[in-house]
Amino acid sequence: MHTSLTPVAPDAKSALSWAHTARFLTTASRLDQLPVTELPEIAFVGRSNAGKSTAINTLAQQKRLAFASKTPGRTQHINLFHLGPKDAPDAVFADLPGYGYAAVERTAKLRWQQVMADYLEVRRNLAGVVLMVDSRLGFTDLDRQLLDFVAPRVQTGEVKLLVLLTKADKLSRKEADASLRAVSEVLGEISTEAADIGVLLFSALKKSGLGDAALALREWTLSHVRVEAPEPSTVPPEAGETVAATPPAEG
Ligand code: GDP
Repeated sequence: MHTSLTPVAPDAKSALSWAHTARFLTTASRLDQLPVTELPEIAFVGRSNAGKSTAINTLAQQKRLAFASKTPGRTQHINLFHLGPKDAPDAVFADLPGYGYAAVERTAKLRWQQVMADYLEVRRNLAGVVLMVDSRLGFTDLDRQLLDFVAPRVQTGEVKLLVLLTKADKLSRKEADASLRAVSEVLGEISTEAADIGVLLFSALKKSGLGDAALALREWTLSHVRVEAPEPSTVPPEAGETVAATPPAEG
């Protein structure tokens, strides 16, 4: 039996210790209020009630870290958290507003969509997106819209994607398998050779999927290539490779 991990790869335990260092940094209601940073940022997104706050708290092993996003008036804010050593943070978690809450009026919904689309499209230091999806519901239309927002950057490999199928403790083994299969099928539609897309059954209650999720996020931040130039760099396509969602580069 050989291990496929490189010697420097973190294990789940060290990844969880790292996640535990998460602490509140700042909150913003507009993108231009977000601090500009080169630290790799991981965005947590999902339908309202999908289990996003619980997943963040469970990953960080803290009871009320992602609590601010539940405070009335703060639900449309982006909350940022620092990770790593106190004097030398090495990553940022961004808790984005939950979407699809039935009571939210249409204009607020449209505003949210725009903020979300803009963030996913332009946030330069975005290293990865964790999408929380209720394992009993699978992808909803809004989840698919969100996937569309971020797909171009996922398909080039610039932004990684992890789908957490939350509340998996509520499913039987058979149902869990079916949920995993259905979601994987949709993810297959946006997958490319360069893309790093994962999906995990996750239960905050049973702590299942927790180590693997922490490990994935830690690896993203460690492998993140910092983008320093203001313009997108022009990476020549690999010979013979076609990436459907990238705009044609003909002039
Ligand atoms: P958010 O709106 O996406 O932040 O969702 P919350 O984290 O507030 O979770 C919504 C509801 O789902 C709450 O009642 C949670 O207690 C419940 N929940 C979240 N994660 C789990 C889980 O892993 N298992 C179970 N059984 N319930 C969960």
